[in-house]
Amino acid sequence: MEAIVLLGAPGAGKGTVAGLIEEQTSFSHVSTGDILRAAVKEGHPLGCKARKDMEAGQLVSDDVIVGLVNELLDAGPPDACYMFDGFPRTLEQARKLDEALARKATQLRSVFLLEVPRELVVARLGGRRICRDCGAVYHVSNIPPQVEGVCDDCGGELYQRPDDAEATVLNRLAVFKEQTAVLIKYYESRGVLVRVDGACSRDETAAEIMASLGRTFQAQ
Ligand code: AMP
Repeated sequence: MEAIVLLGAPGAGKGTVAGLIEEQTSFSHVSTGDILRAAVKEGHPLGCKARKDMEAGQLVSDDVIVGLVNELLDAGPPDACYMFDGFPRTLEQARKLDEALARKATQLRSVFLLEVPRELVVARLGGRRICRDCGAVYHVSNIPPQVEGVCDDCGGELYQRPDDAEATVLNRLAVFKEQTAVLIKYYESRGVLVRVDGACSRDETAAEIMASLGRTFQAQ
């Protein structure tokens, strides 16, 4: 069993790339952001607690996130392989992840850092639109839906995440920069950090990650 982590600024493309890799490997995509958004949508007490922090672009407390991830790992099959996206985001979370993986005898194989220039991230997030029903991701100019505001896959309404508004994006980027420097050092010192280009197409980024895992990526 093994696990990998995708690290990168909001808008670096972690979610999309993770989706592509999940289709062609046995890694299950675990996005703490998606889990939290689902909890908010369902009115789960945890979601209510996290909502304010999320909307302000602040991190949700380590306890809440670590609890969520532990629950998920405990519920999964013993031979599962995981691809974490948006987790860990703090050193405390990284340490707790190590403990959880050790309990499951799972090796942390690589931590991929998707590197993207700041201006590109801001442009990607400002134009990002999400389907309210199925979660499919679009971009007003890069990946436009066939009919404006409507999901191609399920016909659901497309919306802008409240935390993709410009002021919040700038805060999320500041939070990311501050927290991630420590994580990069932590994983670099353990020899598992792999830097990949997140500014190219999602297929190219996915292919780079797959190559590092010794696999071939089939472009979509
Ligand atoms: P994301 O979709 O990964 O950009 O996450 C959206 C928001 O969910 C973040 O801005 C945080 O408020 C919260 N969040 C997601 N993952 C974490 C995490 N690992 N630690 C703390 N907060 C998180």
